[in-house]
Amino acid sequence: MLLSNKVCVITGAASQRGIGRATARLFALHGGRAIILDLDGGQAAEAAAELGEAHRGIACDVTDKAACVNAAARVVEEFGRIDVLVNNAGITQPLKFMDIEPKNYEAVTDVSLRGTLYMSQAVVPHMRAQKSGSIVCISSVSAQRGGGIFGGPHYSAAKAGVLGLAKAMARELGPDNVRVNSVTPGLIQTDITGGKLTPELRADILKGIPLNRLGDAEDVARSCLFLASELSSYVTGATLDVNGGMLIH
Ligand code: NDP
Repeated sequence: MLLSNKVCVITGAASQRGIGRATARLFALHGGRAIILDLDGGQAAEAAAELGEAHRGIACDVTDKAACVNAAARVVEEFGRIDVLVNNAGITQPLKFMDIEPKNYEAVTDVSLRGTLYMSQAVVPHMRAQKSGSIVCISSVSAQRGGGIFGGPHYSAAKAGVLGLAKAMARELGPDNVRVNSVTPGLIQTDITGGKLTPELRADILKGIPLNRLGDAEDVARSCLFLASELSSYVTGATLDVNGGMLIH
């Protein structure tokens, strides 16, 4: 049990086949209390109930600062602390550079980048007060190689922004024993690809992956567990690639 009694907040974690949901499941298996945040409070509550009585689901749009602060306050009111935050909520859009309209830019950067800022700002005062905490930010291989497969340039920019933000947070929050790290997943089989992964495209993508398979949400969840737990006690400001070798650098 790597997270016994740790209170773990995971954003965007209601999606059935998503990375956040798999992370919540794994954290619960390791003794953690999973607090599932998502846009739809009903779905978040259902996802939490599936894990058992110790877990909670709360409606929270991470682009809304007040909603983030309220969600963190509710968690602290009920459980007394917040040990782990996984900034997982994210959306993507497969647009070409010249097709990105202001609304596209705002939608994509708001959830990943602004959401990571707001939710982290909501939990950090509590982590600072308890002099411990681990924040895991889900970026993407898209940030590192200028495009994954499905995300447009605005998605790459948002996820690259997450990497910079996480490193700066790690520097500033280290003295309070709050660690901040990022995970950069490659192509993971969730619903974010919106059914656009055809068998031909899949075969083509596999040629560039040394481990010769696409990733599963659980592959990313296991890396989140490492970064959330004391297994990574001296790791902060790091970026952990979870991409099957799709990008080796
Ligand atoms: P999913 O779409 O399955 O999960 C994303 C979740 O975030 C959904 O539940 C979604 O809710 C929720 N969400 C969207 N907007 C908000 C918001 N404003 N506030 C709170 N929650 C929100 O996708 P994945 O599991 O694939 O993605 C998880 C993370 O991993 C994302 O940050 C993504 O960019 C990143 N990633 C994914 C990769 C992949 O190949 N799958 C590769 C690299 C990174 P709803 O369904 O209601 O919109």
